[in-house]
Amino acid sequence: MSVTERTLLGPGPSNPYPEATLGSTAPLLGHLDPQFIALLERVCDRLRSLWGTQNPLTLPLSGTGSLGMETAFANTVRKGDTVVVAVNGLFGERMCEVAGRYGAEVVRVDHEWGRPVDVQRVLDAHPSPALVAAVHAETSTGAVSDIGALGRALRERSDDTLLIADCVTSLGGMPMELDEWKVDIAYSGTQKCLGVPPGLAPFTFSERAWERRVQSPPVWYIDLGLLGAYVRGGPGGRAYHHTAPTSMVASLDAALERIESEGAEAVAARHEAAGARLREGLQEMGLDLFAAEGHRLPQLTSVRVPEDVDSGKVREQLLRDYGLEIGAGVGPYAASVWRIGLMGHNARLDRAELVLGALRRVLG
Ligand code: PLP
Repeated sequence: MSVTERTLLGPGPSNPYPEATLGSTAPLLGHLDPQFIALLERVCDRLRSLWGTQNPLTLPLSGTGSLGMETAFANTVRKGDTVVVAVNGLFGERMCEVAGRYGAEVVRVDHEWGRPVDVQRVLDAHPSPALVAAVHAETSTGAVSDIGALGRALRERSDDTLLIADCVTSLGGMPMELDEWKVDIAYSGTQKCLGVPPGLAPFTFSERAWERRVQSPPVWYIDLGLLGAYVRGGPGGRAYHHTAPTSMVASLDAALERIESEGAEAVAARHEAAGARLREGLQEMGLDLFAAEGHRLPQLTSVRVPEDVDSGKVREQLLRDYGLEIGAGVGPYAASVWRIGLMGHNARLDRAELVLGALRRVLG
């Protein structure tokens, strides 16, 4: 059997932390084994700590980041609810689509791609929506938004609105304080800055959200009432809901332990340093960065493809000659932007230099 190894410097997945790979190879545990339950509880605690939240309902969902998005809307949207969505890239678009499928009256607040979310425009979009949703780290463009400013402004205005934050590309790569930021519901994915293969969606749901949740949402698999009975236990103990992917959870546990032992702040600083070197090197090569200055993600850099260069051919050559993956742009920018991720285990200066050196060779 031949095994191919890639250096995954696209928008995700990233190469997992070695600890995460080791964690997934431990002997399999059943999903109701007391040892697995203890491991799951530890994972939930570690997620709470990394996210900066006390939310009792914090868990890894069995699915990718999009399942987190689906779960957020399925358990909060009632037909006819007004849901304001800040759209500054592909994943804001996806939120509109998902919220609409659960019957929301979606009020879009469109932004130019590459720009951060404008808090005042979101506030002005509707005086009392049931929900507001925004993406913290827009992977499609490389822009970061100030979710704390949005959350605090919403809560100051009224108690009626819940805030959903997409943290798929931010968790594990940036400092996060969900409770201080007044975020009610957040979800992530394991394959980016958490440094774990794809397959789980860390998820957290505040007590405020719990009180207002939809009872028996239309999709059984992501009914938080049922999932909560498995994760938190109940009067009758832990009820089987579905067969949790125990090896994946063990892998996440190992990555979270790795992040904890390095220190969340040190991990964020490592992402900062690697991203800064990449941006600097790209600009030294005469390339233009895409996301607005001052709002650029350290972990995902978007860069404009020079006019006379075939974007796809460069990516193909990087993969063929260097085993190195970078991402294309998305939507209207599919051919005119590259996206380079330095996430989790790849958030390192040597990885930044590697992709800069390879790009320099390929671009001649
Ligand atoms: N939200 C953001 C910001 C993302 O970057 C992604 C994936 O790239 C998703 C949601 C969807 O996650 P997944 O592809 O894991 O389902």
